[in-house]
Amino acid sequence: MVLAPNVYDAEPIPEAARAEIDRLLASGDLFRYTAAADAPVALLEQEFAEALGAKYALAVASASAALFLSLKALGLPRDARVMIPAFTFAAVPSSIVHAECVPVLCEVGANYRIDMTDFAAKLDGVDAVMISHMRGHTSDMDAIMALCEPRGIPVIEDAAHSLGTLWHGRNIGTIGQVGVFSFQSYKMINGGEGGVMITDDADLVARAVIMSGAYEHNWKKHKGPHGQNSPELAEAFARWQNKLPLYNTRMSNLSAAVIRPQIPELARRVADGLRNHDYVAQRLNTSPWLDVPPPLAPETRAPDSIQFNLEGMSDDEVHGFVAAAKTRGVGVQVFGLSEDNARAFWNWQFLPEAPGPLPQTRAMLMRACDVRLPVRLTRPELDFIAEALIGAAEEVKGPVLAYGT
Ligand SMILES: *Cc1c(COP(=O)(O)O)cnc(C)c1O
Repeated sequence: MVLAPNVYDAEPIPEAARAEIDRLLASGDLFRYTAAADAPVALLEQEFAEALGAKYALAVASASAALFLSLKALGLPRDARVMIPAFTFAAVPSSIVHAECVPVLCEVGANYRIDMTDFAAKLDGVDAVMISHMRGHTSDMDAIMALCEPRGIPVIEDAAHSLGTLWHGRNIGTIGQVGVFSFQSYKMINGGEGGVMITDDADLVARAVIMSGAYEHNWKKHKGPHGQNSPELAEAFARWQNKLPLYNTRMSNLSAAVIRPQIPELARRVADGLRNHDYVAQRLNTSPWLDVPPPLAPETRAPDSIQFNLEGMSDDEVHGFVAAAKTRGVGVQVFGLSEDNARAFWNWQFLPEAPGPLPQTRAMLMRACDVRLPVRLTRPELDFIAEALIGAAEEVKGPVLAYGT
């Protein structure tokens, strides 16, 4: 018998991290700007940019810090309006408030992706957009870029939880002006904490580097693609010397030492995560009460959790489903029904402007379930989860009668 799988433990950190951490502990060289060259954080930036196919990367303390720096690096003034999907993590509107800008929320569909009609309707009067690919669900980047580019509206991709996702075969996070990823422990690469931004724009990255805390001439330790000197970057740094505040949100060498050996693991984790997800999705979709929305056509996903909608259930039945799944050993969160959920927009009471009723997003949040599905799970563990969820739905809705029997 398979026991309820533990979905909270992370994979062990690759053994290769150990020698580097010992070296750092022995030398005490934890600050990214102490070494003359090749500090672990600098090497991480170079390797990450190469892996994603971007010119520049800047590693910082968290994805939230990278989102904040992106807004600052774009030069958005106080009270600039930044559109986000109404389905995201509270840290995302928080980064906008941190930058003294105003979040504008747009509707999200039952497939967890931006509703393009509402997006287009709200775009005029917006100064930037921050596209949260929430839980790795990619919004229609073709439509978004086609609307934003001609209007000169910058696009920040919050790909914090989307590392490894492809759009038309291209890495997500490389489509907008800036892409941001998280290394927090629940994401595809586990640094405990950490974040990174990628961009091809030398001026933008130079501004972000200085504001992240490259005081005096520490920016000289930031190189161009493949660790080469970049005249374009040097000119940008010279332009911004002493002109920007220092928010000191740097990454420590210890974090980089934990993160770097996981980059070569990424392709395997993404493949395992997608295979596991699609296996459970196909099983859940056999239930009339459970619906896993399909990906968009250009999208190749990199999931480490599964989201599905409960169909034809009353609020009481939804609560009954969650309780029945729990009894069967599987934790389910309904985004809009679990208390104080940080992904339910009505809990973002710090917003400077009321977000509006957003009925479509609200309806989705009241029926959308979230179940962790770490990429290391085995087939019997996936079966355990799928059977618990299908069984829980039957428990509240009654068994599904097979035709012809
Ligand atoms: C995790 C997450 C964040 C925040 O990342 P941190 O590194 O914890 O700041 C932002 N957006 C999304 C979509 C996330 O999943």
